[in-house]
Amino acid sequence: MQLYNTLSSKERAALIEEAGKERLTLSFYQYHHIKNTSIFRNHLFLAWDELDVLGRIYIANEGINAQLSLPAENFEHFKNHLDSISFLKDVRLNIAVEHDNKAFLKLKVKVRNKIVADGLNDDTFDVTDKGVHVSAEKFNELIEDPDTVLVDMRNHYESEIGYFKNAITPDVDTFRQSLPIIEDDLKEHKENKKLVMYCTGGIRCEKASAYFKHKGFKDVYQLEGGIIEYTRQVKQNDLENKFIGKNFVFDDRRAERISDDIVANCHQCGKPCDTHINCANEACHILFIQCDECAERMNQCCSDACKDVASLPYEEQKALRKGKVINNNIFKKGRSEALIFKKSSK
Ligand SMILES: [Zn+2]
Ligand SMILES: [Zn+2]
Repeated sequence: MQLYNTLSSKERAALIEEAGKERLTLSFYQYHHIKNTSIFRNHLFLAWDELDVLGRIYIANEGINAQLSLPAENFEHFKNHLDSISFLKDVRLNIAVEHDNKAFLKLKVKVRNKIVADGLNDDTFDVTDKGVHVSAEKFNELIEDPDTVLVDMRNHYESEIGYFKNAITPDVDTFRQSLPIIEDDLKEHKENKKLVMYCTGGIRCEKASAYFKHKGFKDVYQLEGGIIEYTRQVKQNDLENKFIGKNFVFDDRRAERISDDIVANCHQCGKPCDTHINCANEACHILFIQCDECAERMNQCCSDACKDVASLPYEEQKALRKGKVINNNIFKKGRSEALIFKKSSK
């Protein structure tokens, strides 16, 4: 029985090239209590390896989170296999619009403590007791209801460039940080308001909705599939789009424009702009919003200090970094004294 990859990434890439088969890229997740994670892991690996599935799959006692690709012709088999697992029957599959045949080079099925690194201790509440999932159409109705409180479950740099009208956008750096803040803000309304939440792809709301239910909120809803799926349904069903600005995404594109509104501003000169970049000083790399003019003037740096460092020869920069602890600022803080026009979100 072969339970692990035998081919190297390089050999895989060559094989895919050779086969020239069209592959589908898709993702899904499900919170569910899985008792024996290693047995489940091995079961999936054997079944999916057979179907030439490649990808990154995390399995934990709390559920499964999968990103993968497979030959289009094996999709029916794959779907049947998913449906044969009771808690994955009819699970919503997010199928990517753009397919990259080499998005994944191996099948990696890993047992972890969590399916998402969210820093929460979930022994205290049942993650499978989640809120009501709503479609884009139902969501549009709900958020017009005066008894609804709409909450953005993302971080400050995400909601800064785009959000649903009238949403509360907590000024937080992490998901974990946002939960107690929101709970405290809304504690008066646990029983008399509908709590409606959304995030990028839906996964953060799964846990947040279970958390808020556990904390005593009676009426909890979540946007099914997040902003990504909302946008798809709006286009497909010709619904009114209530999302303004850009949807921040965690890949090379950084963001997807949803409406023409520019709701953010350049952190350096204050003019309307919603383009995120990372500071060109490798030792800084802070994520911030910079307009074209400022990018030119500052050499794509966040501050004069960074501009000075970035202009040094590479070897000198390296020497400067030596022995210093480098914060990974890529998606983390995005806050700096030098960025005077960085707005706090509400
Ligand atoms: Zn500017
Ligand atoms: Zn910098």
